Amino acid sequence: MLDKYNRNINYLRISVTDRCNFRCVYCMPEEGVPLMKHEDILNFDEIFEIAQTAVGLGIEKIRITGGEPLVRRNIIELISRIAKIPGLKDFGMTTNGVYLSKYAQELFDAGLQRVNISLDTMNPEKFNKITRVGNIDEVLKGIEAAKNAGLNPIKINCVIEKSENETDAVEVAKYCKENGLQIRYIREMDLEKGYFWQVKGGEGGACNICNRLRLTSDGKIRPCLFSDLEYDVRKLGAEKAILLAIGEKPERGTINNTNKFNNIGG
Ligand code: SF4
Repeated sequence: MLDKYNRNINYLRISVTDRCNFRCVYCMPEEGVPLMKHEDILNFDEIFEIAQTAVGLGIEKIRITGGEPLVRRNIIELISRIAKIPGLKDFGMTTNGVYLSKYAQELFDAGLQRVNISLDTMNPEKFNKITRVGNIDEVLKGIEAAKNAGLNPIKINCVIEKSENETDAVEVAKYCKENGLQIRYIREMDLEKGYFWQVKGGEGGACNICNRLRLTSDGKIRPCLFSDLEYDVRKLGAEKAILLAIGEKPERGTINNTNKFNNIGG
């Protein structure tokens, strides 16, 4: 569907949880953030119904995000249901990779096509410092499992401060080249200050061609990451919430005072 700026809105990012096994310094404080109540989180039937309605309205690409989507129990069941929606052309997930060595084959068999995996450094100490709890070996094993399972393409999301020439980014790029992976550079963003840049190697942050909507794990359709606009699916119904979000999608992002990255899925 076209929005009022003639952008074709055909991409829905679905956050299935605000929980995560990491505490990345640029995403949340060490102590974590207050989590949503269980009853506020959409159940699989609700998420499936919204995804089905969205595809019926012209959405062709769906990405599953979090928090960390692989911490959501029985996630394979949801993947399998969404993958079967007629008209869905592109089905991916963004993950920190830790649970991929456990789930990659099941995800692929359930119909997931591709994954984006977060990796900001190849240095184990720095990795642990950035994620506050992470072990880089688990992520590297997860990437291997994703390759072996046939998930393709595998893209690496590398968060940078300012430039892809930063030492860590250069090392991650070298690793990607050696392993046939695509790298994307994401400059650290600030929702409240409205700091964001176009993703290098991707389309995120390019407002003039923006094609995306987001579904938060508590059922809000958001037309823009850097805006406070949201439409409650549980109150309005999926179709009306999606149509309102497309109709009111801002020309460009400004600031977002209501979300944290862990509950909107970046
Ligand atoms: S800031 Fe908003 S309009 Fe711009 S690219 Fe991001 S989601 Fe799209």
